[in-house]
Amino acid sequence: MSRVELHGIAKRFGDHAAVQDVNLVAEAGEFVALLGPSGCGKSTTLRLIAALEQPDAGRIVIGGVDVTHAPAAERGIAMVFQNYALFPHLTVAENIVFGLTVRRVDKAERARRLAHTAELLGLQALLDRKPSQLSGGQRQRVALGRAIVAQAPVCLMDEPLSNLDAQLRQQMRSEIRELQQRLGITMIYVTHDQTEAMTMADRVVLMRAGRIEQQGTPQDLYERPASTFVAGFIGAPAMNLFPSPKGDALWGVRPEQMRLLSALEGMPARVVAVEYLGAESLLICEAGSVRLVLRADGHQLPRKGDTVGLGWPDAALHPFDRDSGLRLTQP
Ligand code: ATP
Repeated sequence: MSRVELHGIAKRFGDHAAVQDVNLVAEAGEFVALLGPSGCGKSTTLRLIAALEQPDAGRIVIGGVDVTHAPAAERGIAMVFQNYALFPHLTVAENIVFGLTVRRVDKAERARRLAHTAELLGLQALLDRKPSQLSGGQRQRVALGRAIVAQAPVCLMDEPLSNLDAQLRQQMRSEIRELQQRLGITMIYVTHDQTEAMTMADRVVLMRAGRIEQQGTPQDLYERPASTFVAGFIGAPAMNLFPSPKGDALWGVRPEQMRLLSALEGMPARVVAVEYLGAESLLICEAGSVRLVLRADGHQLPRKGDTVGLGWPDAALHPFDRDSGLRLTQP
């Protein structure tokens, strides 16, 4: 049993409320991404689960046991940090089994788990090297190995891929996800990168200013954002947001749902830029003071300076309250 539950968790640093009223559940074997902009409280939430911080209010339950005041060693968790935290003077093998040595796991068992972990991660040929003799991706794998070798049912990761280049990040994304599923680990993964959260997680928890703004499957957040904040954070390019014709609401339409009409139909706009991306192009348009982005395929595209009409299917419209930014129920 490795369900992780947070009930009404709060944490202050001096006057600053870093985390407020956070309620979330990661089911056993589930991959949950904590997503949000810098300073929104993601890392603090993770550190609270890891016993690196103590909450001011609320309860943390892991595997049905209240561990709010329990030390890290009693929580059944492994953690991977952004900077990997490898020991420079130890070899890869020594780094991986370090935690087991400290916990006095016997030598034969250590060797067995090391061999298994090295095989899982393709590290067999690197076991005698020092961290300084590894590439960024290899170091990342060693940090991952240290978490796997612990055989903890719950794994916490804080921006583990942020030091890697784009290509390696993409590769490691699928490796981590594949491993998490194969080993049945409950994963709580902090990132500010929506692509990472959307592609890896079963459930995304989007935070803003210490609170959970919305949580759900990636599809829930993309297709039914609860607020303009979620609408603007999830999706690239971001959802177009503009005042409704009567000015009493904010309307949102995704760039791929915007349709190009003739100049006499729909909302009149002027094309201010065309960005060619290969498989598609982005048309950047202006309608009065509003900037709208349209995702278009095909090659018969208007040119910079052209006047066009913009439209969208009714079902593609997301209405939001003008003042609170909260989603209005769709008719
Ligand atoms: P980032 O992506 O930049 O790491 P984050 O969402 O992980 O951001 P946290 O690190 O959880 O954010 O920080 C939340 C807020 O709490 C921030 O305003 C931060 O400055 C503050 N904070 C975090 N740790 C401490 C601390 N030890 N002392 C004082 N303030 C802190």
